Amino acid sequence: MTIARHLIDELELQQTLTKEQFLTLLQEITPEEREVIREKACATAKKHFGNQIYTRGLIEFSNYCKQDCYYCGIRRSNKDALRYRLTKEDILHCCKIGYDLGFRTYVLQGGEDGIYSDDDIVDLVSSIKAQFPDCAITLSIGEKSYESYAKYYQAGADRYLLRHETANDEHYAKLHPAKQTLKNRKQCLWDLKDIGYQVGTGFMVGSPYQTLETIVEDLLFIKELSPQMIGIGPFIPHHDTPFATETGGTLEQTLLLISILRLLIPNALIPATTALGTIDPKGREQGILAGANVVMPNLSPVTVRKKYSLYDNKICTGDEAAECKSCLSQRMKRIGYELAVDRGDFKPLLTEI
Ligand code: SAH
Repeated sequence: MTIARHLIDELELQQTLTKEQFLTLLQEITPEEREVIREKACATAKKHFGNQIYTRGLIEFSNYCKQDCYYCGIRRSNKDALRYRLTKEDILHCCKIGYDLGFRTYVLQGGEDGIYSDDDIVDLVSSIKAQFPDCAITLSIGEKSYESYAKYYQAGADRYLLRHETANDEHYAKLHPAKQTLKNRKQCLWDLKDIGYQVGTGFMVGSPYQTLETIVEDLLFIKELSPQMIGIGPFIPHHDTPFATETGGTLEQTLLLISILRLLIPNALIPATTALGTIDPKGREQGILAGANVVMPNLSPVTVRKKYSLYDNKICTGDEAAECKSCLSQRMKRIGYELAVDRGDFKPLLTEI
């Protein structure tokens, strides 16, 4: 047995590895062993979720952003981004369409748009909850204070997505301006957990200056945080950013990392992301077969879809919500899965209760 093959078994058994072991696994794994870990991860997801895929209706409600992440197409310094924000009525309308299509989780994602006060977000969350009490609300609106996060939670927000992006300080500083720090990003994640949110974190695969060593730090940080949700997708260059000419992340590496994450936290909610579907026509299917168990079709109005451009060539920007839903449902069916009409909450293992 090769060392990498042994480490796959060890990871499955212990649900973690040491720093040195993770590095060896990433360095030494062969194509055949990638298939071995994929099968194990897929079986682990099946054990926890059967053939049910959870769906989240993604509503990209504003692309104004005060942050300036070097990789992101809606960064403040991108003067060519066509900015928009949806009204509360627009958002509630998206929710209604989503509800009728069977969505029971809404993800409200946006840039860090300073126009919204905490009261505005609270009003938005409580209005959605009042109208759709059986739905979960996930917020993904960046770095806020403990007090702000607590207010949104009180208003009814259930979950929060905030990728840590990279768990290495120097790497973080190469992806963001100096005033954005990993320390603060991590503090936000701990705050969110403390308040009681189901928390999601994650990183881009193949971001500029990423190394196998920084990926190992990501894996160890994720294990330490122990989030309920883990989102990873390939970095894809955006033409109007400082990283326009950088190389993007690969399908192969993203799939391997999905499988590793599935074995690291077996009951985590892991999406097959739109970015994965963008770099390969069957990317999302392959993500599910590598251990992911969530898809996040877009519920944003078609009129704004193209403007929420974090990276180039994003898929599904011309399709109505119903088309996205039925397209994904067929894609899942073809590989033996079906979309669940369910909030899709995190379920702790018996040993964790
Ligand atoms: N502003 C919010 C949410 C929007 S960004 C926040 O900061 O959390 C959502 C995610 O998109 C980011 O966390 C990042 O990992 C990803 N992303 C941004 N630019 C990208 C790119 N060029 N390629 C791939 N993913 C990207």
